[in-house]
Amino acid sequence: MDAEVVIVGAGPAGLATAAFLLHHRPELRGRVVVVEKRRFPREKPCAGAIGRRGEALLGSIGIEVGAPGVIVTGVAYRARGRERVVREPGPVGRVVRRLEWDHALARAVVARGAVLVEEAPVDTVRVASGHAEVSWRGGAVRARAVVGADGVGSVVRKHALGPIEPKWYAQAVEVDTPEVEGDAARDLLVFDTTRADLNGYTWHFPTLVGGEPLVCRGAYLLRPRGRGGVEIDRVLADELEARGLRPGDYGKKRFAERGFDPLAPVSVPRVLLVGEASGIDAVTGEGIAQALQYGATAGRYLARRLATGALGFEDFRRELGGASVGRDLRVRELGCELFYGQHREHLERFLLAQPEFIRVGLRHFSGRPWGAGPLLRASAGAAGWTLRWFVGGAPAPLAE
Ligand SMILES: Cc1cc2nc3c(=O)[nH]c(=O)nc-3n(C[C@H](O)[C@H](O)[C@H](O)COP(=O)(O)OP(=O)(O)OC[C@H]3O[C@@H](n4cnc5c(N)ncnc54)[C@H](O)[C@@H]3O)c2cc1C
Repeated sequence: MDAEVVIVGAGPAGLATAAFLLHHRPELRGRVVVVEKRRFPREKPCAGAIGRRGEALLGSIGIEVGAPGVIVTGVAYRARGRERVVREPGPVGRVVRRLEWDHALARAVVARGAVLVEEAPVDTVRVASGHAEVSWRGGAVRARAVVGADGVGSVVRKHALGPIEPKWYAQAVEVDTPEVEGDAARDLLVFDTTRADLNGYTWHFPTLVGGEPLVCRGAYLLRPRGRGGVEIDRVLADELEARGLRPGDYGKKRFAERGFDPLAPVSVPRVLLVGEASGIDAVTGEGIAQALQYGATAGRYLARRLATGALGFEDFRRELGGASVGRDLRVRELGCELFYGQHREHLERFLLAQPEFIRVGLRHFSGRPWGAGPLLRASAGAAGWTLRWFVGGAPAPLAE
């Protein structure tokens, strides 16, 4: 099969790349091919919390993803035996099932002119002087450019860019269980960093499975290259047992995640990486909204480059860096050392004491302007906290 662009992977990054490319170049209908190794509807281990900014981005080109979800308006942050709840007046995002959401997005993108090839596990990527080709047992697509949107274990990355060791290794494990007494209100995303031996957090998100209100509970672990970590299956089992739930009763889903590394390559001539194939937020493991943002940036970039024929893609890193996704990922990359380094305890105390900081994060998640008020209060809080630190040593512990 011949195409203008072949995109490997029909997750949010690949589908958004196709959607935005076709938005900017509608005459490419039927010439943008998305190759997916599975058949929809397909499961993807994921808690499914999408910041409103992600769905708003799709809305900006007229795509409404018609999949059910639970609307969330805030966050409950738990640490050191305390809890801070921060809510916004309206929705900040939704918790969806990737089984349904990705399928609905795929249908919308096909309706806009993308060609979806399912059950096609790409195993080879070849770049020649005038074209590139991806192939799998039983098929191949030859195109002017290839986009690697094939997630954490990206074959495109390995074949076209070589083995790139990530700076951060992240793992997550999750289960869906019934609600139990003591669960937070169903409009809240709960993040809990209480366990000092977990370089990460546990979560409890409201979810809807086949119309039934359940809670997705999970554990996220981040570790720098070469460092070990606690066993997250054990962490999750402890969380369940603490709520009177039996770990063996629920099917676990476990998967790796790939954190963004600002120094890792993201392109070679005729090949781009987007979404988790390139890297997402390592601090929280949030990746859906970022995958969509990657797709919006790559789609716009490809639309320009296909028109001029300049397919060396040397400046794709600069393009990403200048886009909201690049700025977002750079800031969060800096946050890794802060959240998971030696200052973690102080940061936790700070977040508990300064909810305005959580509010700014929540507004960012939702895509709302941060607002001068919360930003000023968060900055003043951070400045006061730092000053007290310098003048009188570490701030006194909060009452626990
Ligand atoms: C347990 C867990 C919980 C998470 N919870 C959240 C959350 O609540 N909110 C959030 O924002 N993020 C969450 N994430 C992260 C999020 O799931 C990912 O970052 C996001 O899905 C990345 O999107 P993507 O399109 O880059 O890749 P993916 O969604 O992984 O899509 C890649 C696609 O490529 C296909 N593919 C792979 N290899 C090939 C191949 N060789 N040939 C053809 N197709 C191929 C796959 O089948 C898949 O369809 C979570 C991750 C995990 C593991």
